[in-house]
Amino acid sequence: MLVDLSAVFASGGKEGYEGITTELQVPLEMTEFAGPMGSFPILEKTPVALKLQNIGGGKAEIEGNVKLVFRTQCDRCLAEVETPMELSFERTAVAPEAEGEEEDSDDSHFMEGYQLNVETLVYDEILLNWPMKILCREDCKGVCPVCGRNRNEGDCGCDTFVPDSRLAALQDIFKADKEV
Ligand SMILES: [Zn+2]
Ligand SMILES: [Zn+2]
Repeated sequence: MLVDLSAVFASGGKEGYEGITTELQVPLEMTEFAGPMGSFPILEKTPVALKLQNIGGGKAEIEGNVKLVFRTQCDRCLAEVETPMELSFERTAVAPEAEGEEEDSDDSHFMEGYQLNVETLVYDEILLNWPMKILCREDCKGVCPVCGRNRNEGDCGCDTFVPDSRLAALQDIFKADKEV
């Protein structure tokens, strides 16, 4: 969803002048998060609560808050997991006429002219906050590498002894010796 910030940028203008704070609730359109680690459906989401304030010099401060729940998978056993996320962030939007002066202007790629693209803004925050590891439970035992059974549901009794790779390489050399 796009939010027009023209009025916010027009509310101050002079350097150092702090405009009034505009608060609004913006519905989030995205129904899934498609990131580099896969696509995850969004099961629940609140509207994005935004606070916008002109901080002078063609810039506006954005404060945002949104809560989401994603359907994800356990990294070990692939069971379905609901991953909640609460995002609270602060970013600075730069008006198009002030952008040239801004050195790190790609920080505001969520701006399209005077419009704030809330989807892009939130997408970036999800990406930044995506958990390194998703587990169905802290002590998830994962799946058996031999038979594929979920080991949280019981022991399958497979021999899953994995020899040390250096040792295995040595054993291969001995085997090769014998064959000669
Ligand atoms: Zn698991
Ligand atoms: Zn097994």
